[in-house]
Amino acid sequence: MSVQEIEPSAAERRERLKEVLAQARGCARCPELAATRKTVVFGAGNADAELMFIGEAPGASEDEQGVPFVGRAGKLLEKLLEEIGMARSQVFIANTLKCRPPGNRDPLPVEIENCQDYLHRQVELIQPTVICTLGNFSTKLLRGDPAGITRVHGQPEVLTLGRRAVRLYPIYHPAAALYTPSMLETLREDFMRLPELLALGAPEQPDLMELPTVLAQAPAEPDHATGESIGAGAPEVDQLGLF
Ligand code: URA
Repeated sequence: MSVQEIEPSAAERRERLKEVLAQARGCARCPELAATRKTVVFGAGNADAELMFIGEAPGASEDEQGVPFVGRAGKLLEKLLEEIGMARSQVFIANTLKCRPPGNRDPLPVEIENCQDYLHRQVELIQPTVICTLGNFSTKLLRGDPAGITRVHGQPEVLTLGRRAVRLYPIYHPAAALYTPSMLETLREDFMRLPELLALGAPEQPDLMELPTVLAQAPAEPDHATGESIGAGAPEVDQLGLF
């Protein structure tokens, strides 16, 4: 099998992302979150984005609307994007958890573990060049290291996530920067370096022929609640914004 046969086209990747969305919508891996959420906030934006942001978890507004970063932190994110000449429509925004933790409590380790499969599949299918982790939770998860955001923000590194090598760029969470002017200044400075990071292009990719061909089949995952396959139907895609 050649690399071309393993590597799906952008259109195929988009279709597979819709399948992952359909699977996430029926997810009941975290019983408390499944019982209390209004919507699964899968992520939204450009399915072929060069730049992806990964936040923490949906809040109340996101849970209502089914779209990430629609509140004040989202407005700040959009403003910072504008300042570097980019629009929300060019990027993909997701969260570490796809469901709102009740009362906006911190995500639990078991919830992060349960949900990380969706995030990895998003990264594999969107194939961003740069991933900006926003704050501690996504930074620690993707780096696989407990070092906090205060220590690692603004320091890009190349990481292999699943089958993709990406430039990981941890930055402060905009929600934290809303209330701390010095943090906002640092966030803005880190943001200003994004264009030069994007200009570097994708890092060298791992040899696909030596990796398992997970994406070649894209199997529908069984729903953990019912045991039934939930990836097969025609999913609604309104929640994905620009899809
Ligand atoms: N904070 C996050 O981490 N994610 C959202 O979607 C909104 C606020």
